[in-house]
Amino acid sequence: MSFLKLENLSKRYGDFTAVENLDLTVEKGEFVSLLGPSGCGKTTTLQMIAGFVEASAGRILLNGRDITDEKPNRRGLGIVFQSYALFPHMTVADNVKFGLEMRKVGAAESAERVKQALALVHLDKFGHRYPRELSGGQRQRVALARALVIQPPILLLDEPMSNLDAKLREEMQIELREIQRKVGTTTIMVTHDQSEALSMSDRVVVMEAGHAVQVGKPLETYENPVNAFVSQFVGKANLLPGTVEWVRDGSAGVRVGNHVLEVQGTALTVGERTTLCIRPEKIECCTEAEEQLGGVVASSFFLGNQWLYRFETDCGDILVILKNNGQTSCQPGQRVSLRWPTSAMRAVESAADAASM
Ligand code: ATP
Repeated sequence: MSFLKLENLSKRYGDFTAVENLDLTVEKGEFVSLLGPSGCGKTTTLQMIAGFVEASAGRILLNGRDITDEKPNRRGLGIVFQSYALFPHMTVADNVKFGLEMRKVGAAESAERVKQALALVHLDKFGHRYPRELSGGQRQRVALARALVIQPPILLLDEPMSNLDAKLREEMQIELREIQRKVGTTTIMVTHDQSEALSMSDRVVVMEAGHAVQVGKPLETYENPVNAFVSQFVGKANLLPGTVEWVRDGSAGVRVGNHVLEVQGTALTVGERTTLCIRPEKIECCTEAEEQLGGVVASSFFLGNQWLYRFETDCGDILVILKNNGQTSCQPGQRVSLRWPTSAMRAVESAADAASM
C-alpha cells in the first residue's frame, strides 16, 4: 500500500480548473517534487494535501486513511512555506517549540526534541536569537526544524529555497536532502527550478496546466521526456520538427531541412510529422568526414567547466554544450562539423505536430 495516494484529485475555481484528475502515489520515505511553470497547479496540489485548499473532487489517502475532508491540524503534516512564516516575536527555540506546545507535549520531552531539531539543522547555538537576527539560510533552517520537530508523517515544502541566493540555494539543496535522508520523512516539494527538482528528488512530477504530464525518476524523465514540453522544461533540448521519410526495423529517418536524421526505437510511420529532440551535451565536434550536421557558431557562453554554443545550421538553431578541456574554444563565425550517437535522438510529441495533422 502506498503511503500517500492522490486519486483523481481536482480543484476548480468557478469555471477555471487549477488541478484536474491528478493521480499520484508516494512511498514512505520518498522525496517527490512537483515541478512546472508558474500557474500549473503545484501549490494548489500541495495545499490540498495540507488541507488548506478543499478538493473539488477526488480523494487523498494517507497510510490508507481517507483525509480528504480532514482539517489541516488533524492531518499533522509538517510544512515549510516560501516565506518561512516564522513568528518574529518568538526566539528560534520558541518558534521550533510552538508545534509541540499545540500538541501538549510535556516540558522535558519538548526541550529535548527542540534541542535535537536545532542540532539536526546545525543551529544548536542559535536557540536564543530572534528571526530578525538570522540570515536567510538560517531562517530557512529554523522553518525546517519547526516542521520536523512534530515528527510529521509527511513534510511539505513550498518553494523552500526561492528566497536564497544562488550559492546558498545549492548548499541548502544538498543539506536539506541529507537531513531528509537522515530522518526518513516522506517529502513533497513544490519547485519551478528544474535543476533543484532533478538533483534532490527520488521522483519528479512534471505538471502542465493542472495535469501531471510525466512522473518518473529524474534520470528517466531527463533521458526520455514524454513530450516537447517536458524535454524543454527538464533541461535544455534542441527540438527539430520534421517529416518521417523512411522506416526500418523500429528506426526512422526524419527529414529536417536538407537533412534526414535517424531516430531509433520508434513506432513512427512514413509521412508522419514529428519532432526530434536531442540534448545539447550529446552533440560533439568532429571531423568533416564524420559530420552529421554542419553549423556556424552564432554565439558562445563560457560556463566555467563548460561552453554553451548556439550554432546556426540547415536544421535551425542548435544548442551544444561542450566540456571546457582547456583548449581554445570555437569562435563566432567559425564553421564546425557536428555529430551525435543515433541512440541520443528521441522523437517527442509536440503541439506543433498535432496542429499540422
Ligand atoms: P507558482 O509557481 O506561480 O506558484 P503554481 O503552479 O503553484 O504557480 P497555483 O498557485 O497552484 O500555481 O495556481 C494554479 C492556478 O490556479 C493559477 O492559474 C492560479 O491563478 C489559480 N488559482 C489559485 N488560487 C486561486 C483562487 N483562490 N481563486 C482562483 N484561481 C486561483
